[in-house]
Amino acid sequence: MLVVMQEGAEESQIQRVIDRLVSMGFIVHRSSGIMHTVLGGVGPVGDVDPIEFEVMEGVKECHRIVSPYKLASRHFRPGGTIVRIRDVEIGGNQVVVMAGPCSVETRDQIEEIAGVVARGGAKVIRGGAFKPRSSPYSFQGLGEEGLKMMREAADRNNLLVVSEVMDQTQIPVLSAYSDILQVGARNMQNFNLLRELGQIRKPILLKRGISATIEELLLSAEYIMSGGNYEVILCERGIRTFENATRNTMDISAIPVVKSLSHLPILADPSHGTGRRDKVLPMARAAVAAGADGLLVEVHHDPDHALSDGAQSLRPQQFTELMDQLRLIARAVERSV
Ligand code: PEP
Ligand code: MN
Repeated sequence: MLVVMQEGAEESQIQRVIDRLVSMGFIVHRSSGIMHTVLGGVGPVGDVDPIEFEVMEGVKECHRIVSPYKLASRHFRPGGTIVRIRDVEIGGNQVVVMAGPCSVETRDQIEEIAGVVARGGAKVIRGGAFKPRSSPYSFQGLGEEGLKMMREAADRNNLLVVSEVMDQTQIPVLSAYSDILQVGARNMQNFNLLRELGQIRKPILLKRGISATIEELLLSAEYIMSGGNYEVILCERGIRTFENATRNTMDISAIPVVKSLSHLPILADPSHGTGRRDKVLPMARAAVAAGADGLLVEVHHDPDHALSDGAQSLRPQQFTELMDQLRLIARAVERSV
């Protein structure tokens, strides 16, 4: 159930609607926009007639939401969500670039790459400390030690940090060092993890699963939001198809589709999306042209010796080139980088 209050509705009127929804068995989520307050009632819609709410004072309109996700739906926040972390706004006019190595490897490595991405204009450094590797014999990440190194490198370069959380037990350590917690493709439907992330108050970067539909992606966002954490950033990172010329098939069309179905910001990851550094620039350009709110890009100062995903990691000079190109594309779609 979605109740849109009139512009300037009084707090007492809003409260009466909340009380009514609660008495009918709904859990109420409130979104206070610039113009309107929207109340999302999650619960037994059954045979509730929207008119019951529309006749209440201060109510503009009421709808029964038929989509399986409610809080992630565009109706809940028609104006879109902006996730603000310090002076960075994700989902606003600026296209936010998050860049860095696949994995944090050594102190020197992360220091050097932090300098490269900061000089290029990235706002956030990425890097895995807990790595979901397809093989148990591959490098698994440096854990807390890696997070500490990345935090220090980020602070020296005025960058925010995003890093992956693989299970519930890692939430405290990730929260201590990272500004954004990433849920990887393999964990998009780890519902216990998603529920726990709904209980914290840190932004979550939720990547699309390798064979997940857009609806499943939005339902996973709903798991986090239904716990009260509304700061979810989505990420298209390529899906598995019959095509094997690239590591995954980058679903650029997911960007405008998500934009119309949901108010949540969406990023694109052309590195995992293609698996090849020579294809990262064109797909990055396409993603920004299609309306992505930002990019997640792998960059390494020495990709030939990277411990993971070297083939898809940009060299420093390619990253600079990418940022120069994005500035042109962003201008064409009335945004900035
Ligand atoms: C990553 O971004 O480091 C990563 C492992 O990506 P994905 O979960 O999309 O495979
Ligand atoms: Mn990677």
